[in-house]
Amino acid sequence: MLCVTIGCRTIPELVSEQRRLMAEGARLCEFRLDYLDQPIDLGELFAKRPGPAVFTFRRPEDGGRQQVDEAYRRRLLLVAMESGAEYVDLEADAAAALPRIASASRIVSLHDFSGTPQDLPAVHARLAAHDADLVKIAARANCPHDVTRMLRLVRTASLPTVGLCMGELGTPSRLLAGRAGAPFTYACAASGQPLAPGQLTFSEMSQLYRYDQLGPQTALYGVIGDPIGHSRSPLVHNTAFAAMGLDRVYVPFRVPPADLAVFLDDAEELGLRGLSVTIPHKQAVLAVVTDADQAVREIGAANTLVWLDGRVYAYNTDQAAAIDSLVAVLESDPDPTAPLAGMRALVLGAGGAAKAIVHGLHQAGAQVLISSRTRARAEQLAADLGGQVVDWDQRHDEYADVLVNCTPLGMSPHVAATPYDGGRLRPGMIVFDTVYNPEHTLLVEDARRQGCTVVTGIEMFVRQAARQFRLFTGLEPPLELMRSTLRSDEQ
Ligand code: NAP
Repeated sequence: MLCVTIGCRTIPELVSEQRRLMAEGARLCEFRLDYLDQPIDLGELFAKRPGPAVFTFRRPEDGGRQQVDEAYRRRLLLVAMESGAEYVDLEADAAAALPRIASASRIVSLHDFSGTPQDLPAVHARLAAHDADLVKIAARANCPHDVTRMLRLVRTASLPTVGLCMGELGTPSRLLAGRAGAPFTYACAASGQPLAPGQLTFSEMSQLYRYDQLGPQTALYGVIGDPIGHSRSPLVHNTAFAAMGLDRVYVPFRVPPADLAVFLDDAEELGLRGLSVTIPHKQAVLAVVTDADQAVREIGAANTLVWLDGRVYAYNTDQAAAIDSLVAVLESDPDPTAPLAGMRALVLGAGGAAKAIVHGLHQAGAQVLISSRTRARAEQLAADLGGQVVDWDQRHDEYADVLVNCTPLGMSPHVAATPYDGGRLRPGMIVFDTVYNPEHTLLVEDARRQGCTVVTGIEMFVRQAARQFRLFTGLEPPLELMRSTLRSDEQ
């Protein structure tokens, strides 16, 4: 179950916000009394509230909004219990001082904004000892392993436990709490209004991640990268899982490079079945791989991992997705078996995406030219995979049938940038911009104006995700739905 935290200044606002959330399907709210203007009329709140709630008056040192006299704060919590609160949130010292009253369930809580305690079971035992019905521990994650430890606590604790890690590194603990057995976890009412660091919105958690449908049997997938907040893979994969009625969830994991090895060690405990891999981990993940497909072996980078029967399989779906996207616009080619064979393809950039695409273009029989701002990187790529290096300043002087942008130029927020002078594009040229955020980059717009055939980064992104979906599930992906989901998210 999701508990939606509400912080309002007046009781009518609080009540109407709970009513709105209940209409959207919320079954439990947390009333943050520390957000209410003084004096607080609990009688009015109990008379008007439309549904069940956790009553919380957080102190500033625990992340609360206002400092009040502690005796007054405890009196309010006592009155809440006497008045029929379903749950009351008590820190250990308040729980020790306040008796059990009526049927109010006692949540004995700890908040740690500096980090996740090393001795979580001992901390849990101390909180549980204060006549707790539920234990709540909310602690900042300083590394992804904190999430693994927190979920382990939730899974193994003797009392019902709401354990969550705050901050971006802690996001998976919020999404996976119910799957680990937590009675509920917290969400915020609307975006831009988190009442704790890293809180997700009720609609994200309930609709995108289908929180209430996840259980111990739910198969776990995700994406690792650093940063990861911008990733649209959770949107695409979760939408596809839901559309196909699959009991699977796809979670974003921010994993800093220094934490990658430990995170991959934790994969089994987390129950990970598959991962998308993005910058900066595409090469480093190979350390744990037992079986790599040919593209991964030749490119030296993977964007997909699958755990199966004690083995870890690595794939590179970027390469095939890029070539599929190009071939799709060449349907009228006279040689449908090898539509790219013999074409001159100029690849701009020499990073991870360029590597996969250069490899794919060679395999498809194209003649590859590589131009990169840092010439040494282009030379290294050409030495590794083949291709002719073109100086960055001379990229416009080379004839090309196909132009592929593998630099981030044009990507949001730098939408006025382009890697190629629009005036030098020729009608009939195929222009492929791998940038997908936004889809209609300046290069794409210039190419359309010049009468080029255009392939956008969305096309490649959707196809690499669809190939991952096939590897994750063995099922045919809902390609059109994935594409339209991605496009509608951009508008
Ligand atoms: P990467 O490994 O960091 O490589 C980036 C390349 O772009 C490097 O060659 C870099 O040159 C060059 N570059 C960066 N800033 C530049 C600038 N201001 N001017 C000229 N060149 C510049 O990144 P990547 O993984 O290859 O990703 C590159 C882009 O591909 C991403 O931004 C993303 O939009 C796109 N991509 C799309 C998909 C998809 O599914 N559609 C998948 C993967 C990637 P230096 O060596 O000189 O820095």
